Amino acid sequence: MSAQKVALITGASRGIGAETAMLFAQHGYAVCINYLSNAEAAYAIKHHIEQAGGRCITVQADVSLADDVDRLFATVDSELGSISALVNNAAILAAQCRLEDISEQRFMNILRTNVLSCFLCCKAAVQRMSTRQGGTGGAIVNLSSAASKSGSPNEYIDYAASKGAIDTLTRGLALEVAAEGIRVNAVRPGLIYTEMHASGGEALRVDRLKSKIPMLRGGRPKEVAQAILWLASEHASFVTGSFIDPTGGL
Ligand code: NDP
Repeated sequence: MSAQKVALITGASRGIGAETAMLFAQHGYAVCINYLSNAEAAYAIKHHIEQAGGRCITVQADVSLADDVDRLFATVDSELGSISALVNNAAILAAQCRLEDISEQRFMNILRTNVLSCFLCCKAAVQRMSTRQGGTGGAIVNLSSAASKSGSPNEYIDYAASKGAIDTLTRGLALEVAAEGIRVNAVRPGLIYTEMHASGGEALRVDRLKSKIPMLRGGRPKEVAQAILWLASEHASFVTGSFIDPTGGL
């Protein structure tokens, strides 16, 4: 089995996940790019990584479904080897509106995709990484959001609440597995230029709001990816249960 570090990044076909996959590959990780439906975009990131000499696989899986997560991790086991880093990046948001206009179905869909997915992937990773279970340790980085603190009133309280759950899960799991060789941390980005804002019905949201950011600009996906890479790396070897907020001061 190869001694190369192995990273699984969920939702890595575009945006922050894609930048993270490329950055991890640049830093020597064999990378699994997970995606939901955009195979073409996932293959383009894989192609980019392989052109630069990196090792990479793509796996379609809906990370909100337990069977898909089992298949995803089994594929990483068999094709890349022991997982050393998990980045729980996949998430969705829906159209901007007030809480009373959010349907129960939408609320549950957001929680399943943003929170249950993180729980399922963390569980599969801990089963493999924990020294208590014969593993050699590892690092988990969860994507939360500045929304976990702002609450996103009049936009998407459901999404913000899902990110609040990620903060709590991160802290609890970090303490639970701290003595088992696993570090668990999160990043809470602010306004980042990705396609996610179009899902909320406002593709140009970052530009509308950038004057409220102390640094007076939106963030780039790579600026978030750098924080994720650092948290997963040995440079952060004494960091667990912590949060990095790439927000430009917001
Ligand atoms: P994007 O909307 O650009 O990309 C989302 C990715 O998640 C895509 O690769 C998509 O796959 C994948 N995905 C969605 N649902 C699933 C699923 N059920 N199973 C597997 N993959 C799935 O998102 P961003 O890059 O903007 O966001 C990445 C993370 O950063 C998210 O957790 C987000 O909440 C967080 N964040 C983003 C901010 C921003 O301003 N952009 C700010 C704060 C936090 P496919 O392409 O196949 O649909």
